[in-house]
Amino acid sequence: MNQIRTGAFISERRKAKGWTQSQLAEKLGITDKAVSKWETGRSMPDLSLFMPLCTLLDITLSELFAGECIAEEELKEKTDEVLMDVISNWLGHDKMEKVRFRESKKCDTVPQNVLEVENVSRLYENNSVLAVNNVSFQIPQGSFVGIMGASGSGKTTLLNLIATIDKPTNGAVRISGQNIVDMLDKAAAEFRRRHLGFVFQEYNLLETLTIYENIALALTIKEVSKESIRPMIQSLSEKLDISAILDKFPYEVSGGQRQRCACARAIVINPDIILADEPTGALDSHAARQLLDTFAMLCREYNATILMVTHDVMAASYCDRILFMKDGEIKAALNRKQESKQAFFADILKKIEWMEGEAGCI
Ligand code: ADP
Ligand code: MG
Repeated sequence: MNQIRTGAFISERRKAKGWTQSQLAEKLGITDKAVSKWETGRSMPDLSLFMPLCTLLDITLSELFAGECIAEEELKEKTDEVLMDVISNWLGHDKMEKVRFRESKKCDTVPQNVLEVENVSRLYENNSVLAVNNVSFQIPQGSFVGIMGASGSGKTTLLNLIATIDKPTNGAVRISGQNIVDMLDKAAAEFRRRHLGFVFQEYNLLETLTIYENIALALTIKEVSKESIRPMIQSLSEKLDISAILDKFPYEVSGGQRQRCACARAIVINPDIILADEPTGALDSHAARQLLDTFAMLCREYNATILMVTHDVMAASYCDRILFMKDGEIKAALNRKQESKQAFFADILKKIEWMEGEAGCI
């Protein structure tokens, strides 16, 4: 990306519209000085201004970064080039290192435990609530595990402890053999970016980037070579049924499509584990099923490991194993063997009924 070229392009497009620098500044709600700085190549617009600026000047984001109009037939090739350039500039990564993709993990015969939770507790001292109480379990690679429980049973707290967002009062959490409990904040943030994928209901995509750019951005963390990015995203988006919307912005697509994009972004970095907190919570039942099918496919075909919190029995019936939480404890577990989703659904209902009966509070 050449800042001076982008600046000259902004100036050219502004003049073509017949606006002064002040008029453009006013439309964007910024100072004249800022516009002047862009146009002379002394600074770039803030991320949040990219889209409004492009809309006003009738150009695409790629054209803004390229500093020129891009002909239709060159669009694909140029967009890749420009995107990589921008990403390298932002994040300072441009290493030609080959990424090890899912295929390499598929041949492992004995699944290793990706996640080991050992005697973990979390006490909220402000209200003396033991939100997670001496919980232990393991998740082998390639499995799709659900955590179920009523509201307030400690599901989100447990997931946050695994996500390195919160710290347990006691116990150990190991991800791929590494104890994440004692990590300092900076190391934890780096660990999250490299080893964990998130599909949270409120975990938004960047609104100023297209779906393609959102997925590609995640890849730069892994220092993926330029040549591998497009084929990787293309093959994955076909599987996730989002190929047709790659050039759209998040606000232009449905909730279900956004969640599948979040899945693409999560899986594309080849994380050790994908964590999902009520991922179907805001979706209609068709979109929810599609997302759950996507999760199941990621496990089957990419050997992904997924831990999903849900209170929805339909969502849980897609899992291989369910852990049932109540009052911060794991009270029961259920494995899906060869049975159908319908049979597993019925088993889950029975287990919930049993748990409620057990505590005498139906
Ligand atoms: P779930 O996700 O299953 O609905 P949570 O993990 O959110 O449950 O909450 C478990 C318990 O911990 C609840 O009693 C809740 O009130 C309490 N809790 C959750 N977060 C906090 C917090 N930040 N401070 C104090 N108590 C909390
Ligand atoms: Mg919750």
